[in-house]
Parts: sequence; C-alpha cells; structure tokens
Amino acid sequence: MKMIELLKNKTLSISFEVFPPKTESSFDSVKHAAEEIAKLRPAYMSVTYGAGGGTSRYTLDIAKNIKDLYCVPTLAHLTCVSSTRETVRQKISEIKAAGIKNVMALRGDVPAAMQNEDRSAWDFRYAVDLIEELKVADAEFCIGGACYPEIHPESPNQHEDIRRLKEKVDAGCDFLTTQMFFDNNLLYNFLYKIREAGITVPVVPGVMPITNANQVERAIKLSGSFMPRRFQSIVDKFGSDPDAMKQAGIAYATDQIIDLYANGITNVHVYSMNKPDVAERILYNLSDIIGK
Ligand code: FAD
Repeated sequence: MKMIELLKNKTLSISFEVFPPKTESSFDSVKHAAEEIAKLRPAYMSVTYGAGGGTSRYTLDIAKNIKDLYCVPTLAHLTCVSSTRETVRQKISEIKAAGIKNVMALRGDVPAAMQNEDRSAWDFRYAVDLIEELKVADAEFCIGGACYPEIHPESPNQHEDIRRLKEKVDAGCDFLTTQMFFDNNLLYNFLYKIREAGITVPVVPGVMPITNANQVERAIKLSGSFMPRRFQSIVDKFGSDPDAMKQAGIAYATDQIIDLYANGITNVHVYSMNKPDVAERILYNLSDIIGK
C-alpha cells in the first residue's frame, strides 16, 4: 500500500523504523528483530539505508521480508550522495523488482573523505536530484523526504532550509518525515512555518525513545536536537539505572506521542532502533488511545 493512502487515517497510527545490519554476521538477528516488530502490526515500517550505501543490500532484503511475510507496508530508504547515476539506477531497479512502492529519498551524509571534493561534478548533490531520478524511473513510486524541525545542521538558517524543502516537495516528494525532536513545541512551530511557505504534504513526526544514557549523547550529536530541561532531569536521575532509564525514556516518548495526537497529529513514526520490546511497550502504553 502506498504511504500517501496510509497517511489519510483520522485516528492515531504508529509506525516503526529499523536499520539494517552492518555485517553479514548480524543479519539474522536484525531480521529477527524486524520480524518481531512486524508482528505488532504497525501502520508501516521503514528500513534505513546504511550510511554510504555499503550495506544497501540488507535494506531491501529486510524490507521485502517484512512486506512479503507479514504484509506490513514498507518504506525503503535510499541515499545518493556518494553514488554514481548508474549505481542509483541499479538500486532503483532492485527496489522495483522487490515490489516496493514507497521510497524515502535522502541525500545521506557526505563522507569525510569527500568533504573537500568539487561537488559540481557529482551525479547527485542533494536529495532533490534523487527525487527527480525516482520520478523518471517510475511515476508510481510514493516518495518521502526528510525534514528538520530544528534545521538541518548544514543549513545557514531556517528560512533557507524551508526554501530548499519546498523545492524537494515541488520535485515530487509526497510526504515528509521529521528528524527526532524532544520538545513538541519545536515541531508545532516548524509545521506552522512550512504550511505558511506553501508546503502542504503530510508530515510524519519522528519520535525516538531514549532507553539508555549512552544513547543520549549520540542521538543529540547526530540530530543536533535540543534537550529540554525536563528530559535532562530524567537522564540525570535515571541514567545510571538501565531498567529505570528504559522505563522513563519510553514514558517520555509516549507522552510526546499523546501530546502530538492531542494536537491533531495522527501519524507518528517511532525510531525503535531494532528493539521489539521498546516498540511493544510504546504500543501497550497507547493501547486505549490508538483508534480513538
Ligand atoms: P537534502 O534535502 O539534500 O538537504 C541537505 C542540506 O542541503 C540541507 O541543509 C538543505 O537545506 C541543503 N540543500 C538542499 N538542496 C539544496 C540546493 N539545491 N542547494 C543548496 N543547498 C541545498 N541517512 C542515511 O544515511 N540513511 C538513512 O536511511 C537515513 N534516513 C533518514 C531519515 C530521516 C527521517 C531523516 C530526518 C534523516 C535520515 N538520514 C539518513 C540522515 C540524512 O541522510 C542526513 O540528515 C543528510 O545530511 C541530509 O539528507 P537530506 O535528504 O535531508 O538532504
């Protein structure tokens, strides 16, 4: 099923993200985790694309497995930044051959070794280039793009970031998924600004349950997200107690989701980090709310 149809629901619907293994040896455990999450019957599941594309094969293997065995709609991520046009075309053919209709079109992070290269010669410089390629390859693809309530780290300011986002949507992006955030007010403010800028496609907020203290620093570094005082206090209090931190992190994410739904948002994507138990507890916490 196409994402654009899935996102028309009027009541709360939860989806989960999984990421592919980095090595062949961990493929089976990631596949198993993805299957356990699929058994929870989420609205859909996204499967990320390994940075630099090195493990790209696993993205499709896992996405196809979930779709074919569990009938869960899947969204396969694809990045383009260090790829040639030929490689990207090959990947797109593989996505089509796997029967996957939903593609998250991303630029990806520029590898450190390429930071100083002359980018004018690259086949793909931005996600918008990949969106155009996907549209030509198959007009039936339902295409997603990333957006950043707290601005993409390379962007000079929010006005410029939203202007570039509009170009991405105008090129054929059917929906957007946000970077994680820990303060819902940042999301509401962002939504107001993008709607004012004429971006009308559905936006799915991405929520990351922080379940251990080590994850905090990494998540904040990767996303550049603001950490609210309330959340910092939770990490200060429970960070050294793994079980308590996990429970508190899941409660915080649940609270974020409830507030989003109370404010009219019906689709939330949970960065479940290949953890079926976390996904299950989030759904359990929302069990009387989902569908109402
Ligand atoms: P773009 O939309 O191309 O934007 C990148 C930057 O360039 C922004 O600052 C933008 O304002 C600017 N820009 C855009 N167009 C132009 C232009 N024409 N001229 C000048 N500047 C421009 N990474 C992975 O490796 N694999 C994944 O699976 C993955 N999944 C993700 C899912 C989500 C929901 C999010 C939010 C991020 C994900 N990422 C993933 C990370 C993402 O690849 C990085 O954040 C990357 O740095 C930017 O990708 P993008 O598609 O947003 O890029």
